[in-house]
Amino acid sequence: MATEAQTMPPRLSVHNPATGELLRELECAGAKQVREAVERAGAAQPEWERMGVRARIAILKRFLRRLYEKREAVAELITREAGKPVTEALLTEVMVVLDTAKFLVGNAYALLRDQAVPHSNLVMKAKRAWIRREPYGVIGIISPWNYPFSTPAAEALGALVAGNAVVLKPSEFTPLCALELRELLLASGVPADVLQVVVGEGATGAALSESAVNKLIFTGSVSTGKRVAQAAAQRLVPVVLELGGKDPMIVLEDADVDVVSSGAVWGAFVNSGQACLSVERCYVHRSIYEDFVQACARKAAQLRVGNGLDAETDVGPMIHQRQVQTVEAHVNEARERGARILAGGKRLAELGPNFYAPTVIADVDHSMRLMREETFGPVLPLMPFDGDAEAAQLANDSEFGLAASIWTANRQRGEALAARIKAGTVMVNDVLSCFGISEAPHGGMKASGIGRSHGRFGLEEMVQVKYVDSDLLPGIRKVWWFGYGPQFAQQMRGFIDFLFGRGMQRLSGGLRSVGAYFRKRRL
Ligand code: NAD
Repeated sequence: MATEAQTMPPRLSVHNPATGELLRELECAGAKQVREAVERAGAAQPEWERMGVRARIAILKRFLRRLYEKREAVAELITREAGKPVTEALLTEVMVVLDTAKFLVGNAYALLRDQAVPHSNLVMKAKRAWIRREPYGVIGIISPWNYPFSTPAAEALGALVAGNAVVLKPSEFTPLCALELRELLLASGVPADVLQVVVGEGATGAALSESAVNKLIFTGSVSTGKRVAQAAAQRLVPVVLELGGKDPMIVLEDADVDVVSSGAVWGAFVNSGQACLSVERCYVHRSIYEDFVQACARKAAQLRVGNGLDAETDVGPMIHQRQVQTVEAHVNEARERGARILAGGKRLAELGPNFYAPTVIADVDHSMRLMREETFGPVLPLMPFDGDAEAAQLANDSEFGLAASIWTANRQRGEALAARIKAGTVMVNDVLSCFGISEAPHGGMKASGIGRSHGRFGLEEMVQVKYVDSDLLPGIRKVWWFGYGPQFAQQMRGFIDFLFGRGMQRLSGGLRSVGAYFRKRRL
């Protein structure tokens, strides 16, 4: 007989990473609940699809208004649950979602409507054809904790406007942001079964990956992404994988040391370095290296670390102990191997167990974990280089390829170097802000992922393409149907000459092929 402990569903405690305060306890969804949520979503989706894009855009417009009105409360919730400064919650989460909604309201109809396909081949001219973009059905979204509102929202909004139902499994560390997103969308007119949230740990995500969803959009670490892709492969379910990064920043010798060091400090320490697009490696031309390192160290030491709800805070806590331990391990190994720590390099235990000081660390090299694995914390490692070719080689010497940035007073030189970097995004003279550009596709090369989110390419991931071909002459047999023979073969050779040959060859081919249209067919 099952004991009470066995029959009770597992529970999840959600804590504020800055204070440890318990925010809420929630029941985890088991495999059965996930299956049932997907079934309900599947049953509700056809009606949602039938509503049409314009009606769904009207709902998105209401969502946009509602989120704008509740922006402060939503930002505060994000800060309580994920720790980031409230200004960052407003700018990198709420504003990004408002902007995504605005993009979809303005563009979804044009991007999703039927698209004519003109035929160039003469023999195919008597047809009208078009592309339909049809929803997959139910899209499973699995998301991480570092952008707990904007990541699932950007994906869910695109999936929904395209006519899909969504089952969202948020990170176990930040489910409240996802529940808030659902509440806002339901209050705007999305039916309850069309957008469901299944709360839980990895097992809930695994159950969603194995469920009857028609597509999976996963954002998270490489190792979990591989597991999700393997589960999806069992049912040949397509996946989008938005995975980790080890983004390089390249500072050329003509860059303004004062401005660009501020960029490096922001790029490395925004969200306590817990952004997939964080500066994780910084390569600086040797001629300005020492000045640059000192400027970064000076600025890092001035950052105010604390509770994100305090408007004065620049850098909040990290999400949890495991993440702090990874940072500690990477920094300690680099220190032991001779790297120079110029700022930070330690926990800030007086603030709480999840606080780590913004750390500037120079003279690192590629043998260190700090330069090879995703650190995902407030660490800025710097290394000198001597020329553009070496900078590109160092930047590309990574299993990851999410994004990169190049900093120079000479834009043309920066843009030329951008073409040599293997990454999904390369920014010249900026970093990270691409995530806030609703038109920009977001996604990685190499181990950083498959597919794209955001913008036109993100919306294309939410639909499957159907080609519809309608023949204008239904009463006429096609020339290429059965009834082959030597004469017909010659006529078709002539036709190919007519289409692809040159000069006289074309003319004679055309003449030789004409008979095909009048041939007697036995079938
Ligand atoms: P994670 O891989 O640990 O977890 C991500 C999600 O997967 C969570 O919801 C988790 O519960 C779930 N999960 C865990 N095990 C699972 C399983 N076996 N099957 C299905 N789902 C499972 O990642 P994280 O620590 O939450 O997030 C940090 C990572 O996310 C970093 O690597 C970061 O770079 C990456 N990230 C990437 C992007 C991007 O757009 N490329 C954006 C944000 C974060």
